Amino acid sequence: MKYISTRGQAPELTFEEAMLTGLARDGGLYLPAEIPVMSHDEIAALAGLPYEEIAFRVMWPYVSGSFSEDEFKDIIARAYEGFGHDARAPLKQLNENHFLLELFHGPTLAFKDFAMQLIGHLFQVALKRRNDRVTIVGATSGDTGSAAIEAFRGLDAVDVFILFPHGRVSEVQRRQMTTPADSNVHALAVDGDFDDCQAALKDMFNDFDFRDGVKLAGVNSINFARVLAQIVYYFSAAVSVGAPHRKVSFTVPTGNFGDIFAGYLAKRMGLPIDRLVVATNQNDILHRCLSGEGYFKGDTIPSISPSMDIQVSSNFERALYYAYGEDGSAVAQLMDELKTGGFNVSQGAMEALRESFDSGRVSEDETLETIKQTLTHSAELVCPHSAIGIKVGEEHRSAEVPMITLATAHPAKFPAAVEKASGEHPPLPSRMSDLYERPERVTRIANDLDALEDHIKGHIAE
Ligand SMILES: *Cc1c(COP(=O)(O)O)cnc(C)c1O
Repeated sequence: MKYISTRGQAPELTFEEAMLTGLARDGGLYLPAEIPVMSHDEIAALAGLPYEEIAFRVMWPYVSGSFSEDEFKDIIARAYEGFGHDARAPLKQLNENHFLLELFHGPTLAFKDFAMQLIGHLFQVALKRRNDRVTIVGATSGDTGSAAIEAFRGLDAVDVFILFPHGRVSEVQRRQMTTPADSNVHALAVDGDFDDCQAALKDMFNDFDFRDGVKLAGVNSINFARVLAQIVYYFSAAVSVGAPHRKVSFTVPTGNFGDIFAGYLAKRMGLPIDRLVVATNQNDILHRCLSGEGYFKGDTIPSISPSMDIQVSSNFERALYYAYGEDGSAVAQLMDELKTGGFNVSQGAMEALRESFDSGRVSEDETLETIKQTLTHSAELVCPHSAIGIKVGEEHRSAEVPMITLATAHPAKFPAAVEKASGEHPPLPSRMSDLYERPERVTRIANDLDALEDHIKGHIAE
């Protein structure tokens, strides 16, 4: 499988090259040159299989050529062995025809572990074979950073630097980033918001001297390997409720559009997905866009669902690429317009987006109310992000098509909001109950490209 850029100007790469590179050199995002399709019978055969086996069958066409079958099976096995649930992504019923897909049983209690744990092992095998090393820099609104640190800590071919917005992540998120003692782990608290961190990261990738000098690699959700790992649980969940013999819909709490874009690929691969519903908090650029108001940046407003406090959704570029008929130059032009505020989506592209996507926005009060109602009516204590999904999922639920809402984090990752809403304190799973006693290690740093690049150059292992 070859990988191409959404902006059409970067060289085609193999899966391994696209994974090690992250962002394409024309500023675009990598996508497979063709989306592989699974037949009805191949999808039906997934029912009842272990998660790891489904993962292998779904992802293999994307990675073959870069890894051997045995290598890839072994990588998958190691990626998910540290999860606290044998089903990996268990499904619970909330209401008639409404199900909750629990994606928070990984080592950092959020869905990002599904992709990050896999990427950690993929990088390790690929770099070992090349006798090479890389510097991983990630920007996080909280969950990506901890998941990346947990996946790369202690690997000798990798230094990992994580930029997070100072004071804008929850204490559990911060501690998961600042307490690992491994010397290749560097947590950087940036004086800015998440969009500033993400912009700084993009600027580092576009500074080719720096990029090549430190062998920069990215594991943000722009990395196609992340998206790939997330396709798997759409298949495992859908076959559990009767696909491919019936249609299924998904509601996805969305920030950077990575998770829901994986659902779009699952649909294009042949999974009979009826609707993909984007659920946003008050930072609602995606909801506004899908409602026909164009894609225009606003100011990011901090919320009780901080992992979705995003005004520019990196992966939306991938959806636009398909909506604009795979026209890289059209996408490049839109991204230019975005630099100065935003753009209107063409009528044809809007129709293409509406074939798959719906959307809804949830206020802070509604989020709290949904946490309370979900505990009362379904006996589940959920995190604020998942609550946003549940509220929008309920609004889009129908009698004919089962709705599966993605629960993206464990409630214990956001204890303040959960306790305020429900009166119940969500305990950490016992495997990480000493998190508040471990010493922290973090560097506070200005929102300034030179300061960040100097710090990174000064702290990578030789
Ligand atoms: C990252 C994250 C999201 C948003 O996912 P995207 O792929 O960025 O859309 C939602 N909820 C939680 C808990 C997250 O960590």
